[in-house]
Amino acid sequence: MITKEDIGRFEVCPTPFYFYDLALLDRTVRRAKQAAEKHGYILHFAMKANAIDPVLNVMKRNGLGVDCVSGAEVSKALDIGFAAESVAFAGVGKSDEEIVQAIASDIFTINAESLEELEVIEELAAGLGKKTRIAVRLNPDVDANTHKYITTGLEENKFGISGWQIDDVIAFIRKSSHLQLTGLHFHIGSQIRDLEPFKNLCGRINLALQRFADAGLPIEHVNAGGGLGIDYDHPDDEKDPDFEKFFDVFNELLDLKPSQTLHFELGRSLVAHCADLIARTLYIKKGLKTNFMILDAGMTELIRPALYQAIHSIENLSKRGEEEVERYDVVGPVCESSDCFGKAMQLPLSERGDLIAIRSAGAYGESMASHYNLRSLRPSVYRD
Ligand SMILES: *Cc1c(COP(=O)(O)O)cnc(C)c1O
Repeated sequence: MITKEDIGRFEVCPTPFYFYDLALLDRTVRRAKQAAEKHGYILHFAMKANAIDPVLNVMKRNGLGVDCVSGAEVSKALDIGFAAESVAFAGVGKSDEEIVQAIASDIFTINAESLEELEVIEELAAGLGKKTRIAVRLNPDVDANTHKYITTGLEENKFGISGWQIDDVIAFIRKSSHLQLTGLHFHIGSQIRDLEPFKNLCGRINLALQRFADAGLPIEHVNAGGGLGIDYDHPDDEKDPDFEKFFDVFNELLDLKPSQTLHFELGRSLVAHCADLIARTLYIKKGLKTNFMILDAGMTELIRPALYQAIHSIENLSKRGEEEVERYDVVGPVCESSDCFGKAMQLPLSERGDLIAIRSAGAYGESMASHYNLRSLRPSVYRD
């Protein structure tokens, strides 16, 4: 909830900037942690969703591990003070340098995404004279029913090892002398609000566990990834998302041995609601069919609408409670037609200088910001 006091603070801040409600973040993380601990599940934060220090510190304080997808993220996690044994490292294209760094840092697991990568890890670990903990990321061929750019668990996607390759992977791991297989990893996509795909995932995980057990390869942990979606239409709903319902699916459907642990790496669901992008209206430009509300924030600050056709709830903070409304295409200043936050959005009658909040922008907002057009964000504003 953006309060009157917050808006007062915004009046003197140069826009565009991100506004973080760190107390809300803390409450959300606690809610997730509590729901996970009910079943003994272990939580990691997928730091690509948001890697700023204040956010990472809330995660660390609450005892979460991290999920990284680049060597720079691994370094950042270790610098912030996450324990190496809580850091998982996934990604289809890890460079030799990144793999060496991960092996040397003794992280929780390197999640290998292909047979070819396993061969490289084996060779690099041998060079370091080390046996390294790995998990294999399997592609479960489950449709997440989300936008195709954030679907990752289908055979046609580049991620993970496909079912037809598992026998070769098992054979390779068996004869390797520098790989210690500890886990199976899955991640089917993002912004998944219907729990059905996760139910399908559980079925695939059970089959995979059986296959590795039959091959005599013991599995210590399953990492079921992230992907839980949030309700972008209700930015102030503190019960969203329902972590309990999400974890209940796995509790009900997964066949885990008592010795096997279950890990999750949530990104969006933990951080999305805790930040808003605050902008100013530069111009209300008249059009024949629609009027344009031109903001000083665009796809360089928040690319999700341009990249995934995502819709964020938008609020005119300067015209709260005003009755008269109008339809606007809310757009940014960047020289791309996809630089648009929403078409024909109904908002209070607006004018130049109004403060506009683009809500629920804490996930894949600041972390995806770019310098296109040589633009840059202004300093963030925090509420503790
Ligand atoms: C992006 C990513 C996540 C987090 O996804 P969310 O939808 O933000 O929860 C988890 N695991 C892996 C491997 C990822 O790439």
